[in-house]
Amino acid sequence: MALINEHFLKLQKNYLFADIAKKVNAYKAMHPKANVISLGIGDVTQPLCPAVIDAMHKAVDDMAHKETFHGYGPEQGYIWLREAIVKNDFLPRGVHLDPDEIFVNDGAKSDTGNIGELVRWDNSMAVTDPIYPVYIDSNVMIGRAGVFADGKWSNVTYMPCTDKNKFVPQIPDHRVDMIYLCYPNNPTGMVLPKEELRKWVNYAIHNDSIIFYDAAYEAYIQDPDIPHSIYEIRGARKVAIEFHSYSKTAGFTGVRCGYTVVPKELTATTVDGQRLPLNQYWLRRQSTKFNGTSYISQRGAEAIYTPEGKKQVAETIQYYMKNASIMREALTDLGFEVYGGTDAPYLWVKTPGDTPSWQFFEQLLYGAQVVCTPGVGFGPSGEGFVRLTSFGDRDDCIEAMARIKEWLKK
Ligand SMILES: *Cc1c(COP(=O)(O)O)cnc(C)c1O
Repeated sequence: MALINEHFLKLQKNYLFADIAKKVNAYKAMHPKANVISLGIGDVTQPLCPAVIDAMHKAVDDMAHKETFHGYGPEQGYIWLREAIVKNDFLPRGVHLDPDEIFVNDGAKSDTGNIGELVRWDNSMAVTDPIYPVYIDSNVMIGRAGVFADGKWSNVTYMPCTDKNKFVPQIPDHRVDMIYLCYPNNPTGMVLPKEELRKWVNYAIHNDSIIFYDAAYEAYIQDPDIPHSIYEIRGARKVAIEFHSYSKTAGFTGVRCGYTVVPKELTATTVDGQRLPLNQYWLRRQSTKFNGTSYISQRGAEAIYTPEGKKQVAETIQYYMKNASIMREALTDLGFEVYGGTDAPYLWVKTPGDTPSWQFFEQLLYGAQVVCTPGVGFGPSGEGFVRLTSFGDRDDCIEAMARIKEWLKK
C-alpha cells in the first residue's frame, strides 16, 4: 500500500480563477448579448516579436538536418544563452555574474516552486501578503508551511502590504530562514526602492537567511532608480537566489523559458555547522530532475538580446504600460485610489468605502460588464482591493474605462 504525501491534503483548493469564471458565465447566461471585457487576465495577449519568430523558425530548420540537429542540451542551458543573459541583463547594471551561476529553466514557476527542495523542510519562512500563491503552496506540499487556521499557515510569517504601509513590507522582528520577495509585485504592481531592498539584504546577511527574489516583471520597470535585480545591492549574492522569466518580458507564456540565478557565494549550513555552496547542489538537482529547456525556446530567448529583439520587446512592453497609464488616469479621475501600474502591468485598486473584494467584483461585472480579480484571492491583506491587468487590447481598456464612468453616474 502506498501512502499519499498527506501534505497535499492540506492544500486549500485554488478556487480563485474557477470562481471568477463561474460568476462570469452565470452573468453571460443571463445576459447573452452582453460584451464582457476582462481586465482580470494574468496572461499576455500580444504575439511574439518578429526577431523571436525568425530565430525560432531558424531553430526548427536546424532540427530538420542531421548536421544541425540538437538532441538533449546541457541541463543548465546552452552557453550562448547564458552568456547573453550575463552580458545583457546584468553587466549593464554593474553586476558581474559567471554563466555557471545561470540556470536556464522552462519558466519561473517551476523553479520558484522547486527551489525549496534545497533547504531542510523545517526552515522557517516569510512571505509578503498578498502574494503569488506558488511560494506558499509549494512549501505546503513538503510540509514546511504547517497547518492552516484562520486564513493563515501556522509556520509562515506574513508581512502585510497595504495602503497603510504604502505596500512596503516590514522586516520581521524575529529570525526567519527563507524569505520570498517579488518585485515588481504581482498582484499589487508596486516596486521596492533600493533603500528598502538593501534593508532586506542586510537582514538576510545578519540572520543568515536566504531571499528568494522573483524578478519576473523586471522588464516593466520605468523608473531609472528602481533596482531590476537584487544583485544590484552589495552583499546580495551571499544571500539571494533570483528568478527571471521571458513570459511577461517577451510573451513567452506559451513558449516556456526563463532562468534562475544561484550565485556561487550563496551558502547554507549543515546541522553541524558546515557551510556549503548551493550552486553545486542546484546543478545536481537539475541534472537529476530536469533535462533542459527546448533548443527552439532557447534560440527564441537568445533573439530577445539582439538589437532588433530588444527594440521589439520594449515596444510591446510600452503598449501594455500605455494601457496601464490609461486605466490609472481614468480610475484616478473617477475618484478611485489606484496603486501600481507605473512600473508593473498590474493596477491594485482600493474598493470604494471598503467594499469587500468579491462584492465589488460583482458590482463591476453587473454594472459595467468588466471583470477584475478580487484581491482577497491573493491573501488576507488583499481584502478591500481588486487587481486589474494591462495585458488586454487597447480598445478594450478604453471601452472598459468609459463603461465604469457611465456606471458610476447611475
Ligand atoms: C507570471 C509569473 C511568473 C512567471 O511564470 P512562468 O512560469 O515563467 O510563465 C513568475 N512569478 C510571478 C509572480 C508571475 O506572476
